[in-house]
Amino acid sequence: MNALELKGLTKKYKGFALDGVDLVLPKGCIMGLIGENGAGKTTIIKLILGMIRKDGGSVSVLGQDIASVKEEIGVVLDQVGISGCLNVKQVGRIMGDIYRNWDQAEYERLTKKLRLPENKNFKEFSQGMKMKLGIAVAMSHRAKLLILDEATNGLDPVVRDEVVQMFSEFTRDEEHSVLISSHIVSDLEKICDYIAFLHGGKLLLCEEKDAMKEKYGILLCTAEELAGLPAGAVMGKKESAYGVEAMVKREAVPDRELLPVELEQLFIYMVKEAER
Ligand code: ATP
Repeated sequence: MNALELKGLTKKYKGFALDGVDLVLPKGCIMGLIGENGAGKTTIIKLILGMIRKDGGSVSVLGQDIASVKEEIGVVLDQVGISGCLNVKQVGRIMGDIYRNWDQAEYERLTKKLRLPENKNFKEFSQGMKMKLGIAVAMSHRAKLLILDEATNGLDPVVRDEVVQMFSEFTRDEEHSVLISSHIVSDLEKICDYIAFLHGGKLLLCEEKDAMKEKYGILLCTAEELAGLPAGAVMGKKESAYGVEAMVKREAVPDRELLPVELEQLFIYMVKEAER
């Protein structure tokens, strides 16, 4: 059973269409959803959570309909929905009433680890503190799947590093999986097993991260050399007065030395190519 299966997922807004997205997140894995502003990341997450109605396709969460597995999903959206007049302790008490599987000891461990103040009210929290509390709550009710929309936004680099490590530790249990969207590609590069590139509502690519990095490389060459490469070898290119930097498929140019490609570069090249 997969943690998530999206088939032909479609949603139409005026001027935007999420266009038949197919995605599979195997159990025990972390998938990073990368896309520019307005690419459709939040739309996908809201469709998975049943917060908006789909126009086509299907969504299966932990092998079931989302309504039957809500308790097993830990969610962090860009706005953390906690009442402003509550402090960390009070949030813990309320969540204990809401979630059947609330783990108070884990909540206390995480809020301590994330250095959240015990007696300050939520409305007095900084944006980063609000995010940290949302993450602590999402990870304290024995969820099997975490769905995180830009959950590292607003966190400083040290905390971001701690938080992404927490997500990574979460998937040590093979029953646990994570879907995380972020603009901060370096965070995703550190922890994700699978990467999905989304652009203008279309899925450009969804692959295992390591396979993706093995499949492509950067070739530094001249414009003449580039023109002589086999058809389909070049995924994208940047030309300058000094020569050409091209993202190529390794298998198409086996005799050339290539530089390793970073995820961010790969994404930028693919988006530019898709726009051409
Ligand atoms: P960002 O990184 O900026 O958060 P995103 O990839 O999460 O972007 P979405 O929020 O999914 O993007 O938005 C995708 C597109 O859907 C955008 O063009 C947006 O304007 C449109 N959209 C989202 N919600 C609505 C809505 N309720 N009504 C109309 N259009 C909408």
